[in-house]
Amino acid sequence: MEKVSGPQRNVTTLAKQQLAHAAFNKITDMTDVVIVGAGLSGLAAAKQLFDDKHYQFKLLEAKNRVGGRTVNQQLTANNGQRHTVDGGAQWVGATHIHLQSLLKELGLSTFITPQEGETITQGEQPPQLQQELNTLRAELNRLASSLPLGSPWLAVEAHNWDNQTVQDWMLSQNYSTDAVQELDYSVQSFLAAPITEISFLYLLHYIRSAGSIEQLEILSGGAQDSLIVEGAQSISLALQKQLESHIQFDAVTKVEDHGEFCLVECQSGQLILCQSVIFAMTPTLLKNIDFSPALPPEKNSAVEQWNTSHGSIKAHVLYSRPFWREQGLSGISFIPNEVLASTFDGTRESGEAGVLTVFVNSSDAMRALSLSARRDRILRVLSELFGEQAFEAQDYVETDWQQVPYQSGCESPLHIGKLTKFKDSLQKPHGSIYFCGTELATIWTGYMEGAITSGYRAAAEVITALNQKALAEFN
Ligand SMILES: Cc1cc2nc3c(=O)[nH]c(=O)nc-3n(C[C@H](O)[C@H](O)[C@H](O)COP(=O)(O)OP(=O)(O)OC[C@H]3O[C@@H](n4cnc5c(N)ncnc54)[C@H](O)[C@@H]3O)c2cc1C
Repeated sequence: MEKVSGPQRNVTTLAKQQLAHAAFNKITDMTDVVIVGAGLSGLAAAKQLFDDKHYQFKLLEAKNRVGGRTVNQQLTANNGQRHTVDGGAQWVGATHIHLQSLLKELGLSTFITPQEGETITQGEQPPQLQQELNTLRAELNRLASSLPLGSPWLAVEAHNWDNQTVQDWMLSQNYSTDAVQELDYSVQSFLAAPITEISFLYLLHYIRSAGSIEQLEILSGGAQDSLIVEGAQSISLALQKQLESHIQFDAVTKVEDHGEFCLVECQSGQLILCQSVIFAMTPTLLKNIDFSPALPPEKNSAVEQWNTSHGSIKAHVLYSRPFWREQGLSGISFIPNEVLASTFDGTRESGEAGVLTVFVNSSDAMRALSLSARRDRILRVLSELFGEQAFEAQDYVETDWQQVPYQSGCESPLHIGKLTKFKDSLQKPHGSIYFCGTELATIWTGYMEGAITSGYRAAAEVITALNQKALAEFN
């Protein structure tokens, strides 16, 4: 058990007074704050508490690794050399300033996303379509910028926009079928869901939180600006090193909120007494937690009805060298088909082995294939795009985010009617229970930047509340 600080001492006394003797004796550990989930949001919250130095905390993670939706994977070349790739998040955006400053602090470095050479597309867009898409983007940016940042439900048109899908809105504005298809492809690349499902208000909120639709779409200067040399999970691995003694690998199953203190129950049977709890995960995963007493109705319905993601399959293929560059190709392709959605050049150091990063068409048909059959189909399509050398793969790795335990896919964009219903019910604390995670971020929601800033926000809320509590005890 950790050394008991001032505030904790009072909590222990209160718990002793309020709990039956047998219940109190079941407590296996105590701390000030329990953080649930060691993805970037939970680790960012933990780092704030660590730097603040005033409160003890524990970070509980259900999987046997930190990083959540970031994971480093290794590809092995024929010569035995290993190459790191990102199974989950990979890109650092040009305006992801909190992420960039964390990378700097942790001694991690970035490199510009390779994009020199020709990008393979379906061909030049007719000028009329280009013009229409320019108008569409300008209109989306204009409407998005009219939303109050972080409170899109307060917009004058909020209910109207939330009660139609993105596609409904486009059709009501007489956009052409080609423009609808183009926006659908673009939105699927960052929200992993079709525009027939997503609330128009949610899309505007997402654009507002990123700054503009171009920020979401472009590589250089946008969300796909750079990659982390050591791999995106290295942020979490470096934080794990700093916070080592505070991290435990155990799934939280239940939280009892007794007002002045909470009891956090884990799968292993450990029972932790604490003052505050921060949940740092996708809202839909809160369904797995038994809250006692139950969360208030508005929070509960947000948890119960938050959309789960389709998940997506991301793959990497290793070659002896980035052979596509010899043909003047960038390795980037945007030709959606039944096998692939897009490809990027995932090569880390120039002159070494080449890596193609593949966003797989995550349809039921592709999921139904065996790993080797899926790999074969992907190589066949890569050969059509980049030439016969694509068959000479030295290694292949993939992650299907629908299958990863304790995750809910990649993104969980809200369907119609939900954003105006849920509002900020989950962002707000409930008693001693706080919530964060990229879905609850104001800036760059859905991204690593959003995860980090929401973790900082939750930690600041907890520190403020505990400071006030401590002050009240002295008055
Ligand atoms: C394929 C893919 C590509 C992406 N690409 C990018 C990109 O290029 N750039 C970018 O910025 N973002 C990208 N993202 C998004 C980015 O990964 C996320 O926004 C960010 O990592 C989310 O962090 P988080 O802490 O909010 O949630 P998570 O990473 O999901 O962390 C939540 C943690 O909670 C844990 N947990 C769940 N239940 C429990 C429980 N009961 N008890 C204890 N622990 C629990 C989970 O195991 C997990 O570790 C991508 C995501 C995916 C999947």
